Order: sequence, then structure tokens, then C-alpha cells
Amino acid sequence: MLYCVEMSGHGGHPDGLCLAKPNGEERGFVDPKRGANGPVLEDLWVMQGSLCDLKCKHCYTASSPQNHRLEQIRFAELRPHLDEAGRLGVQRICFTGGEPFVNRDVLEGRAACNEEFLASLEYALAIAPVEILTNGRRYIRNHLDALRALRARHGGRLRLRITLESPCPERHDALRGKGTFAQTVDTVRVLAGMGFVPVLTAERPLLALQSDEEIREAYRALFEGLAVEVNLIENLLESGHELTRIRQSGGAPHPEVFVTTNCFSILGKSPESLMCHFSRCIQKIEGEIRYYPCPVIYDDRSFDLGATLAESLRRVYLAHKNCYAYCLKGRGATCRTQAI
Ligand code: SF4
Ligand code: SF4
Repeated sequence: MLYCVEMSGHGGHPDGLCLAKPNGEERGFVDPKRGANGPVLEDLWVMQGSLCDLKCKHCYTASSPQNHRLEQIRFAELRPHLDEAGRLGVQRICFTGGEPFVNRDVLEGRAACNEEFLASLEYALAIAPVEILTNGRRYIRNHLDALRALRARHGGRLRLRITLESPCPERHDALRGKGTFAQTVDTVRVLAGMGFVPVLTAERPLLALQSDEEIREAYRALFEGLAVEVNLIENLLESGHELTRIRQSGGAPHPEVFVTTNCFSILGKSPESLMCHFSRCIQKIEGEIRYYPCPVIYDDRSFDLGATLAESLRRVYLAHKNCYAYCLKGRGATCRTQAI
């Protein structure tokens, strides 16, 4: 029996997804974390928008200076969602994009700072520790005074994850654009000088170096005397610019692996280890705030979990190609920071 859910017309998980294979094996699923008093949220992700000053070759959200598909989230519209996450005991709030430090006004030179984002940051920090994922290139530097003030008020509750694709400048620039390595390295040094411990992020499949030790040492050598952490993403996401790049280079994306309820034991991974168990992700699409299971899946109505956090805390079927390709394959990747 091939059991596929009909589209309801309104969209929403698991509309349009097949929940069993022809041989009857059932689609794997993950239920939300629960505590003694009901559902619990550990990580809240906020995708600030798909606008970015860069257009990296492998960007899975296809972000660029022209991409507005994921819209900018204003503080006033985010605030009630941060409050709701606080009531459910959120332990970490992560802002990503696109580049969170830009909005249209900043990119087009009408404003120096993304004030809406700064307001959201200040509010979020009062609720839980915050991580910002940034390219660390240019626009974050307009916000250094604001970041210094936030650090003075909130200390280590505010962390910055900065992508440095490789300790080798040519490799970083080949993906992100000429000159970006030097700009990002400068920013990391400035932030470390301000007392932050920047978390340097890279994708392991794109690194020439293999062992954790070699990788850590190569990054540390770049920032001698400064405190930095290194965080690796274990699997690449085949979407956005990365998907275009694969096709244009004559390659074929990996086929979808049907994740069944047996996969967890076969692969030695527990449902509780996956982000859809303990996180939710806010995205603004066509003027509305919507909830998704994780930041790996975006702008796909069949994974839309609803308009509120409460509504979103329900079963997630692992029916996206990236469920296996990103989260379950090999060592498995996570969007959580894990220092190597
Ligand atoms: S990978 Fe990051 S920095 Fe590069 S285009 Fe995408 S969002 Fe921007
Ligand atoms: S991509 Fe990963 S975290 Fe997201 S729904 Fe699939 S398994 Fe869960």
C-alpha cells in the first residue's frame, strides 16, 4: 500500500506526503519533546529573511541581495512568538538568514544598522541565550557598538557563529567571493578582541583536512592568542544555490532516501537526537509567520506546521530529502553548535 496524504487545499504538514512505502513500511516520524507539564521547546530558530550581501555558491537558502522569498521579520511581529517560546522554557534562540545584520535599508544604504534585528536580539536575550549565524563580512561591523553593549548587559548569553569555509583563503573565496576571507578574518579578530568567543563554522565535506585535530589547529593558527571555537557541519544541504551548482556542473543530486520507522535502529540514531524533536523554526512567507520543524527545511508547504508554536508542536514525518541526506546520513549533521 502506498499511503499518501491528499493536499487539503490549505497546505500544512503532512499534506501531499507519502507516509508508507508500497511494501507497507511506514514513514519515520519524530514527536515533539514533552516534559511533565506538556510540550517543551529547547531551540527556537528565527530565519530573519533570505536577503544577504553575499551569494555563496553552495547557499542552501539561495540567499542573495535580490532574494526576498523569506521575508524580513520585524520585532513587533516576532515578539509574541519569543514570549510563547519563553513560556515553553526555550533554552536557546538562534537567528539566521540570509544575513541577519542586513535588511533592504541597510543593503541599499538608507540605514547603517538593522534596528529591527537589534530590537529582537535585545528582547530575545532577556528570554534565553542567543546565537547569531553571520557571514561576519561587512555589515556586522556597523553593529559593533550595539554588540558591545549587548555583551556588557548579557555576557556570554550572546554568541556569534561565523562561517569561515576553510583556513585557506582561496578555498573560502572560491565559495563566497574574492576578498571575503580577509574581511571575515578581520571581523573575527575584532569580535574576539571585544571578549566574544567566535564560533567558526565550516562544512566538513568541503574541507581538505580530515581529522578534527588538524582542522582545529589550522583554524586556531589563524587566530593565535585569541579564543575561538570550531564547529563543523557534517553534511551539505542539496538545495538553493548548491542544487543549481550541482546541476550546472553536470552532477545529479542524491536521490531521496525513504526514511522508515526502522531507520532509527538501522542507523543507530534516536528520534530524540533530531532537531525536529526539540526545536522549531520561524519563517515569514507571503506576509505570514509560519513554523517549520527545523532550519533545514524552508518554504515548503507540506512541512508547514502552523502559525503558532503551540500548533507546531506535533508529529513531524521525516519526508524531506534532507531528513536522511542531512540529519541521518553518516555521522549526521545538526544545526546546533558542537565544538570539535
Ligand atoms: S551561505 Fe550565508 S553568507 Fe552565503 S549567501 Fe547564504 S546566507 Fe549569505
Ligand atoms: S531535516 Fe532533520 S530536523 Fe528537519 S525534519 Fe528532517 S530529520 Fe527532522
